[in-house]
Amino acid sequence: MAGGLRGGIDLGGTKIQAVVVDAGNRVLGEARHPTPTAGGPRDVAGELVRAMEEAASAAGVPTAELEAVGVGAPGATDARAGTVTSAGNLPGWSGTFPLAQALAEPLGTRIVLGNDVQVATDAEAELGAAREFSSLLGVFWGTGVGGGVVLDGRPWVGRGAAGEIGHVVVKVGGARCPCGRRGCMEAYAGRRAMEDRARRRVEKGERTVLFDLMEHKGRTRLTSGIWARALERDDKLATELIDEALAALGAGVASACNVLDVECVVIGGGLGVRLGEPYAQRIAEAMRPHLFFEEMPVVRTAQLGDLGGAVGAALLARDARELAPA
Ligand SMILES: [Zn+2]
Repeated sequence: MAGGLRGGIDLGGTKIQAVVVDAGNRVLGEARHPTPTAGGPRDVAGELVRAMEEAASAAGVPTAELEAVGVGAPGATDARAGTVTSAGNLPGWSGTFPLAQALAEPLGTRIVLGNDVQVATDAEAELGAAREFSSLLGVFWGTGVGGGVVLDGRPWVGRGAAGEIGHVVVKVGGARCPCGRRGCMEAYAGRRAMEDRARRRVEKGERTVLFDLMEHKGRTRLTSGIWARALERDDKLATELIDEALAALGAGVASACNVLDVECVVIGGGLGVRLGEPYAQRIAEAMRPHLFFEEMPVVRTAQLGDLGGAVGAALLARDARELAPA
């Protein structure tokens, strides 16, 4: 064992972020790879292995000497079985795949799986923006809109699927969500849904710099950076779509707060981090008219930024060791 070093991997729809941390959760090495857009779970697993090897190499440790590697994955994760099911944002991943097994052999260490958004929320609760609070709602505004809940200092996972704030209904009978249902918050605020709306409006003849910026950057999707640049240029279409997203986030997050009455809301995710504190405060403003009580929860941008998910996954590797039988 290399002095209690652990690995953490955040498996997102757009990127794979890997870190190696020490016992004090200090990041010693990191690597970022794009998530494969074609193929299937085996190809994604191969990319996770390469990202972890690169992060470990940057930290100067072979992966086999890591105590464990935590993985925050989208979809339904079964930590006991080591499987990930229905990860809709990943290529060819509609079924169940034994991810822990696929990683354990090439990395030569124990793999602990968790939900990507919940581990990022846990990281903000322990190390990031919500350190002084015991209750927290994490809102991860990116490709989709994910959520995580901490109540009384403990993650609340419900029967395994809690925190799906992206699918809170903000408009009954409203726009079709990538999940297939109608009127979800994600149908207005998720980056994928926003891109679809932008494309439809361009097909109808509206103008925007969004897709010019995308081509200029050699991208095939509207990344958070592209949205941010279009907003800086006062692009009308981008501004309108972001305003719609903020209104949906305000309604959805306030509704969740009316139920949970958490002390703090942390806004993370690709768009949340890229747009930063001014937009977190605009979400807070959009929440206010929907809040039942006077006292606003504290609304903050995620402090661990892009590394939060991976650092949270590394926390998972520590906690699983503590829980494991001797
Ligand atoms: Zn939905």
